[in-house]
Amino acid sequence: MSSPAAFNKVAKRIDSFRDEMINLQIKLCAVPAISPSSGGEGEIKKAEALMDFLNANGFINTKMIKAPDLDAPAGFRPNILSFYKGRSSARTIWIMTHMDIVPPGEYSLWKGDPYKAWVEKGKIFGRGVEDNQQDMVASLFAVKAFRAEKILPNYDVGIALVADEETGSKKGIHYVLQNTKAFREKDLIIVPDAGNEKGTMIEVAEKSILWLKFMTLGKQAHASTPEKGINSFKAASFLIAELDKLHESFSEKDKLFDPPISTFEPTKKEANVPNINTIPGEDVFYLDSRVLPKYKIGDIQKAVKISAAKIEAQFKVKIHVSEVQCAQAAPPTSAKADVVQALKNAIQAVYKKEARALGIGGGTVAAYFRRAGFSAACWSKVDETAHQPNEYCHIDNMLGDSKVFAHIFLQE
Ligand SMILES: [Zn+2]
Repeated sequence: MSSPAAFNKVAKRIDSFRDEMINLQIKLCAVPAISPSSGGEGEIKKAEALMDFLNANGFINTKMIKAPDLDAPAGFRPNILSFYKGRSSARTIWIMTHMDIVPPGEYSLWKGDPYKAWVEKGKIFGRGVEDNQQDMVASLFAVKAFRAEKILPNYDVGIALVADEETGSKKGIHYVLQNTKAFREKDLIIVPDAGNEKGTMIEVAEKSILWLKFMTLGKQAHASTPEKGINSFKAASFLIAELDKLHESFSEKDKLFDPPISTFEPTKKEANVPNINTIPGEDVFYLDSRVLPKYKIGDIQKAVKISAAKIEAQFKVKIHVSEVQCAQAAPPTSAKADVVQALKNAIQAVYKKEARALGIGGGTVAAYFRRAGFSAACWSKVDETAHQPNEYCHIDNMLGDSKVFAHIFLQE
């Protein structure tokens, strides 16, 4: 059977699963998987429900990789790898989603019970229905559609359902990567856990993050006699202006990113003196830097120290610079990587939209794959209601994303 004909059959079958997909969403919502550090029991109950689904629907070689966690009642955090056989095993097409959810937050902001998902005007509402169940359910039913149509995917399909994404992934994908050899260099790895409303953003790269705290120490005095003190706030203000020159020292552009430059923004400011007529002796502010991956974080830190030393000499203050967060970006996935091309083709076929590879300013879970030497792309079609009250999933997005995966399973 030609690939377009096969795709049409599978896509129709996915449409026929609409109610079943909604039902699985509701079922998964009812077994909250909150990490112990956020006050929950972990993912075990949800993992068991998903194991039942995999076992009942023709998935093979399903295994649970248990990351030890004494804070979870089960004693571990479950990660599931499961497969569906394709025509060739030369590569595996992976879809990775995460089982854990964030707590619902303020209950009064919800229109209904966040754990009793409900359907309203083409949307499913509930905690976790978008993040990350929309594409989890989409991936499972894409495979189920191949089975129902007795059509073989071109390559083996791998389904990864991981724990601990919301609180750092140490007991999730990071553990799986360190303790298995499940992933191979030629595999396509899709992480549908980020995206935009139109489904046109394929995330392939991230900027490094550097958050710094600046404490400037001068000398307190009466504001009418500034010469008797050293104004820490004034010195810090000159430092902020000096730090703005980082934009010139690290001025390279990369069109993969929006904005295409490294950014260095003063953000948080701690209160100094409570009254107007005192020269503040101590001042604290913070800088949030998002740096293109081509730069080394260490070079930024050196430049910051030079700026601080200049202001110290000029104003006779003492400046303590400390790191709040420092994360060098993972090596980017190439915008020309197979996984990006496969997604572009499928998005064009299903949503009739031209998607684009993009870098973003913050970290994503795909970075674990990239650091381990694998190409991975994040993509999904979402309204980005994750972590909000009344989180929802467009049912059409769940079906559409399922067809995007199915299209990729049929690509050469
Ligand atoms: Zn997520």
